[in-house]
Amino acid sequence: MQTAHTLDVLRTRVSSLRKGGETIGLVPTMGALHEGHLTLVRRAREACDHVVASIFVNPTQFGPNEDLDAYPRQLEEDAQMLEREGCALLWAPRVAEMYPDGFVTSISVSGVSEGLCGADRPGHFDGVATVVCKLFNQVAPDMAFFGEKDWQQLAVIRAMARDLDLTLPHVHQIIGVPTVREADGLAMSSRNRYLSEENRAAAATLPREMREAIARIEDGQEIAPTLAALEDALLGAGFSKVDYAVLADASSLKPLEKLEGKAARLLVAARIGGTRLIDNMGVG
Ligand code: AMP
Repeated sequence: MQTAHTLDVLRTRVSSLRKGGETIGLVPTMGALHEGHLTLVRRAREACDHVVASIFVNPTQFGPNEDLDAYPRQLEEDAQMLEREGCALLWAPRVAEMYPDGFVTSISVSGVSEGLCGADRPGHFDGVATVVCKLFNQVAPDMAFFGEKDWQQLAVIRAMARDLDLTLPHVHQIIGVPTVREADGLAMSSRNRYLSEENRAAAATLPREMREAIARIEDGQEIAPTLAALEDALLGAGFSKVDYAVLADASSLKPLEKLEGKAARLLVAARIGGTRLIDNMGVG
């Protein structure tokens, strides 16, 4: 596996990977890799001739009081994991390469980015959309792979790619990959390593109570009291705050008061011991 830290090197390596018309799958990440990320790489390997993974802790998607400085960075270990998975190229730009002095552009996606995490993290999805647009233009992959773990992020990226005509020629297909979970159901996340042993054990309440709430909703119970009971169960299990627990239309992310036979999603963000965890699951 080769590593590129500059755009010049990236472009040279990407064009040599494409030489015989071979296809490229892009897996964007912020590093601190786990099985969730590696599953995206495996999916990309199955679907494309070569995989390019990016590792970039994107400062513009972190708010002023968020964990940008504390975010885990372990480039060498990550590179070894990617190499073992058969990744062809690691794109690991420095901040000044992505955002040189004088950088003034931001992409803002309205609608799907406004509620849920967008309400709690102002500017977050502008940062995500801008960096992902740059990655699409830089690598011009045939397919790009994202986790359903970040359901709203996936919706924002799909909307951005559609509206800015990025799908052709810059990225032909955006693929969502189901969430990879720990044995007790907790969605894998680079942020799980912030959890103390006690909080890590309590964190498994999140997927468990979400499944319970989904079973009740599918059973015909009313949505508002079911979501209120979910919040109470999380607070009772040691979560300090529930930022949101919402049943939403799976595509528009608009809150639903009834199932209405549409594809629906239960999305939750909750804090435990200073760590904000998010999860989402299909309903109906
Ligand atoms: P991150 O490094 O957290 O920005 O994540 C990089 C990519 O990996 C995003 O597309 C995430 O949605 C995806 N991802 C993170 N955690 C998981 C998981 N547990 N299962 C599947 N994909 C994931």
